[in-house]
Amino acid sequence: MNGKVYLVGAGPGDPELLTLKAHRLLRRADAVLHDDLVSPQILSLAQENALRYDVGKRCGQKSTRQEAIHFLMIELARQGLNVVRLKGGDPMIFGRAGEEIRALREAGIEFEIVPGVTSALAAAAAAEISLTMRDTASSLLIMTGHFAEMHDRPLPDLRALLASGTTIALYMPGTDARETVNRLAAAGVARHTPCALVARASTASQQITITTVKELEQSKMQTKPAILIVGDVARLSQRDKLRVENLFHSAVLPGEDARLSTEGLVAKETSRANGTVNHA
Ligand code: SAH
Repeated sequence: MNGKVYLVGAGPGDPELLTLKAHRLLRRADAVLHDDLVSPQILSLAQENALRYDVGKRCGQKSTRQEAIHFLMIELARQGLNVVRLKGGDPMIFGRAGEEIRALREAGIEFEIVPGVTSALAAAAAAEISLTMRDTASSLLIMTGHFAEMHDRPLPDLRALLASGTTIALYMPGTDARETVNRLAAAGVARHTPCALVARASTASQQITITTVKELEQSKMQTKPAILIVGDVARLSQRDKLRVENLFHSAVLPGEDARLSTEGLVAKETSRANGTVNHA
């Protein structure tokens, strides 16, 4: 009898953000095929004798071909094994789950999809930004910054979307700040638009930069993986108060100590989140 394949979201990095279901399936998996964004702590939850295949991209090397992943998943299931295909975040968001579902259907292999916490939500939590803050934003656009993936489709009119109260969560924003800013500007994003760059959300090395699209050019975007949240809601982050005040000339937030030095603030935030808040 064939085994079953589970397409499982591993969440953004923190093992505690795994769902109970993901945890249970991982513990009883015979074989685990994982992307390189999945942390070693999460992989260590699988049984010691489970087969493990890293099918993610390796620095500088080519990623495992998608067809090879399909072949492996199907063959393992045909051997009667329970297969967990573990993906960072949620499998249905930029996770190539669509192709894998199609391949499994065509091969007649039973499968199930287990959602995970997608990284935009972990980034919002880290930066303390409500993505749909009442009175500020009423919709959320999940978008790739890897514009090659758009297959020659035109970019959405981001100016109109932002004006109508949309928050943009840009996945794969790239590491070349100037290029990212130019692309956003070409899609109609005004340079004074607030944004938050959150790298390695939910991990010990999380980094948060509250800035504007214009100033993003001066910031380092080298730390990966990262999410860029664009829209007025980013201005409401309290993660970097003094910086936000300087950028947007807003009043000191009620109940906050305006005398905190910038350094003190960074130190405070660092000890709290065990990560860093950057001043772009
Ligand atoms: N399926 C994943 C997305 C895969 S695409 C999900 O639902 O989150 C890979 C992109 O995800 C990265 O380029 C980055 O934009 C984002 N990403 C993944 N993990 C992240 C993390 N811990 N912090 C910030 N961004 C992350």
